[in-house]
Amino acid sequence: MNTHEQIVDVLVIGGGTAGPMAAVKAKQANPKLNVLLLEKANVKRSGAISMGMDGLNNAVVPGFATPEQYVREITAANDGIVNQKTVMAYARNSYDMIEELDRWGVKFEKDETGDYAMRKVHHVGTYVLPMPQGHDIKKVLYRQLKRTRVEITNRLVATRLILGEDGRVAGTFAFDCRTGDFHVVRAKSVVLCTGAAGRLGLPSSGYLFGTYENPTNAGDGYSMALHAGAELSGIECFQINPLIKDYNGPACAYVTGPFGGYTANAKGERFIECDYWSGQMMMEFWRELQSGNGPVFLKLDHLAEETIATIEHILHTNERPSRGRFHEGRGTDYRERMVEMHISEIGLCSGHSASGVWVDEHARTTVPGLHAAGDLACVPHNYMLGAFVYGRLAGESAAAYSQSNELAPVPLDQLEAERTRVWAPLGRTDGLQPNQVEYKLRRLVNDYLQPPKATRKMEIGLAHFETIRGDLDRISAAGPHELMRAMEVHAIRDCAEMAARASLYRTESRWGLYHARVDFPQRDDANWLTHVQVAQ
Ligand SMILES: Cc1cc2nc3c(=O)[nH]c(=O)nc-3n(C[C@H](O)[C@H](O)[C@H](O)COP(=O)(O)OP(=O)(O)OC[C@H]3O[C@@H](n4cnc5c(N)ncnc54)[C@H](O)[C@@H]3O)c2cc1C
Repeated sequence: MNTHEQIVDVLVIGGGTAGPMAAVKAKQANPKLNVLLLEKANVKRSGAISMGMDGLNNAVVPGFATPEQYVREITAANDGIVNQKTVMAYARNSYDMIEELDRWGVKFEKDETGDYAMRKVHHVGTYVLPMPQGHDIKKVLYRQLKRTRVEITNRLVATRLILGEDGRVAGTFAFDCRTGDFHVVRAKSVVLCTGAAGRLGLPSSGYLFGTYENPTNAGDGYSMALHAGAELSGIECFQINPLIKDYNGPACAYVTGPFGGYTANAKGERFIECDYWSGQMMMEFWRELQSGNGPVFLKLDHLAEETIATIEHILHTNERPSRGRFHEGRGTDYRERMVEMHISEIGLCSGHSASGVWVDEHARTTVPGLHAAGDLACVPHNYMLGAFVYGRLAGESAAAYSQSNELAPVPLDQLEAERTRVWAPLGRTDGLQPNQVEYKLRRLVNDYLQPPKATRKMEIGLAHFETIRGDLDRISAAGPHELMRAMEVHAIRDCAEMAARASLYRTESRWGLYHARVDFPQRDDANWLTHVQVAQ
C-alpha cells in the first residue's frame, strides 16, 4: 500500500448535500482556486438525498413567512437555545437559494401562476415546499460540480484533520476504501460536510445499516472535529424521529399532512398536539406508544382513492423509493388500514434537531480555517435547504480564508502516528470483527442512553464506552472495505461518549423526548437556558 500527498487551496469533506454546494461556491468565488471534494462513497449517489427529496421542510418564502418569524419559531421549537444569528443567516438566504436551485434545474411544485406552491404543515407559519419531482437533485448538483471544474475524489475516507503548529487546520488524513492507500491532503482551509452521526443507536430492526439516516454518516465528522479541538454544541439534544415501523425512511408527515393524512393511535384518534419540528412532538409520540392507546399509526385509509394514489406516487418514486416494495412485501396498503409507525434510534443531527459542531453565521468553527455545514453544523432544524445555504456560506468563507492565509506548517510526527493508527487493523490477524464491536457498542447506546435518560444508567454506559476504547486496539480488518467499518467504530465510540457526557452535564429536562431525564424531570430555565459546549 502506498502513501499519496496532495496540496489544495480548499478541501471539502463529504459530497452529499452541503459538500457539493460548498465546493461549487468556493470555486465560483475564485475559479483559480484548487478545490477538492472528497467523499467516502461516490458523489453521484451519496448522502441523505441520494435518491432525491420530496420537499423542503423549512422554506422561508416572501409572502408566507419572514426571516424574523422563522427565527422566532425555531427559537421556540428549540426551547430557547439557539444561536439566533446563525438561524437568521439561514432564513435571510433561504429564498435566494431556492431560486438558484430552481435555475439549476431542481423541480419545486408551483401553482398555475408559476408561484411556489407552499403548504402549511406547522401550527403557525407556512414553510413546506413540495418537490414531487425532486428525484434528480443529485444529478443537478453533479452537473454544477463538473461545470465549475471542482476536483472530485470518491472512495476516500477522511479519518482525522491535520492540525498546523499554530492551531490552524491544515488538511486531512484519509485512506482509500478500495486499495487501502493512505492519503495526506494538505489544504489552506477545510469545510466539513460529513452529515449526521446516524449510526449511534441501533434501530429496533437490529440491522446495523437500517438507520433513519444515510448509514455512511457514521459520525466521522463529529469525531474529527472533536480531535481537532473544535467546540461542539447541543450534543445532549438527540435526534429521534417518527418512522414507518421496520422501514428506515421518514414518517412522511410533511407529504401526507397537506393531503389530510395524520398520525393516529390504535383507536384511530389524533393525539399530537404539538408542532412537527419539536422534541415535544416526539415525547407525545413516545407516550402514546407506551400507553394503552399504542401502537401509533399513519392514517390514510379515510382518504379518497385519487388522493392516496397521488401520495403513493410521491412517496414511492422519490427520496426513499424502496418504500413501495416494502409495503408490497409486508402486504400493507394505505387504502385498507392504518400503517404501523415507530420511533427511530437515537442519533446526532442538527438538520432535524440541534446537535453539531459550533459554527458562526459564516459557517466558521472555533478552529481557524475549519468550516462546517449541513447536518453536522450546529444550526438547529436546518434540514436540506439549510445544508445548501450553509454549504454556500462555508464555501465562500473557506475560499476567502484560503486566499488570505498560507498553508499552516505541520509537525512531522502527525503523519506517521495517523498512518499507523489507520493501517493497524489490516496488520492484525485473529482480532475482533468491526461489525461485532459496532453491534456491541450500539446495543449499549440503546441500553444506556436512549431517552428517557437516567443518571446511573448513563454513568454505566460511559464506563462501557471506556472499555470499548480498549476493544478498538484489537479490531482487525480483512481488507480496505472492512477497514472503513473499523475506523467508523472509532468515530461512533467518540460520539457515544460525547452524547453521554453532555447528557449527564445538563441536569434538567429539555426538548421533550430528546433530553428527558427521569431524575431531573423539570425544565430549569433559571440555570440551564444556555448552550452546553463539548471540547477536548
Ligand atoms: C430520512 C430522511 C428524510 C429527510 N427528509 C427531508 C425532507 O423531506 N425535507 C428536507 O428539507 N430535509 C429532509 N431531510 C434532511 C436533509 O436530507 C439533510 O438535512 C441534508 O441532506 C444533510 O446534508 P449533509 O450534506 O449534511 O449530509 P449528507 O447529504 O448525508 O452528506 C454527507 C456525506 O458525507 C460523506 N461522508 C461521511 N463521512 C465521511 C468521511 N469520513 N469521509 C468522506 N466522506 C464522508 C457521506 O458518505 C455523505 O455523502 C431528511 C433526512 C433524512 C435522513
